[in-house]
Amino acid sequence: MIRVAVAGAAGRMGSTVCEAVSQAEDLELVARADPALGTTVADALAAGVDVLVDFTLPDAVLANARQALAAGVHVVIGTTGFAPAELERLASGSAPSAPGSAPAPPRRANVFAAPNFAIGAVLMMRFAEQAAGHMERAEIIELHHDRKLDRPSGTAARTAQLMRAAAPELGEVPIHSVRLPGLVAHQEVILGAAGQTLTIRHDSLDRHSFMPGVLLAIRRVGSLPESPVVGLERLLEL
Ligand code: NAD
Repeated sequence: MIRVAVAGAAGRMGSTVCEAVSQAEDLELVARADPALGTTVADALAAGVDVLVDFTLPDAVLANARQALAAGVHVVIGTTGFAPAELERLASGSAPSAPGSAPAPPRRANVFAAPNFAIGAVLMMRFAEQAAGHMERAEIIELHHDRKLDRPSGTAARTAQLMRAAAPELGEVPIHSVRLPGLVAHQEVILGAAGQTLTIRHDSLDRHSFMPGVLLAIRRVGSLPESPVVGLERLLEL
């Protein structure tokens, strides 16, 4: 049994993760941390946890992860909107410790982060990366519910980064952000060349789309060959 705590447990994603973990036979939900529930990450870690899953806020996630790592607890991060470089600092331990946290981890704990846990979205990113070198220009439109705090989305930023790494001649890949009620998480990558366009689109229609990816990350974070590992594609045979 893998003992799991969820930070952001009262939120839209966190509550769906709690439900998915509770239903998985090999996982045990041992703690829910959220100020909205009156429980802290420190309370959750005291419950004896193997993996902390974080779906909180960009300004809360790093402190939560530091506390978990200091306690030797693996971390799965779904929260977006923080600088990717922070993740490297976190995993290397060079970031300052959170107040009150232990100075040295009692065992090596890993960090896994993914800007998008939906397998279809990971495929969209991979196809966009493959197409990048074959078209002249590309732009990204990402569309999300109106309560999403960050823009551009972590998925759009990572898609643009992967496309530019695959095809530097593509230059800047502009990102357009739409925030409207009724949307969940959607993205279109539009590539253009003389006389043609190619559109690659993914839609997350509800939050259950993210759960298989989150559960996979919980099961695999303890055996990663290195840390941090970023991107669900690193756990899939694509
Ligand atoms: P939400 O606002 O519904 O939930 C966030 C929750 O975190 C709230 O309940 C809040 O009280 C809680 N919280 C705040 N500070 C906390 C702290 N210090 N410790 C514990 N809990 C704390 O937001 P959401 O829609 O669930 O999204 C959460 C994050 O997940 C966002 O960054 C969003 O972009 C990201 N997200 C990622 C994916 C993915 O696949 N990686 C998918 C959807 C959303």
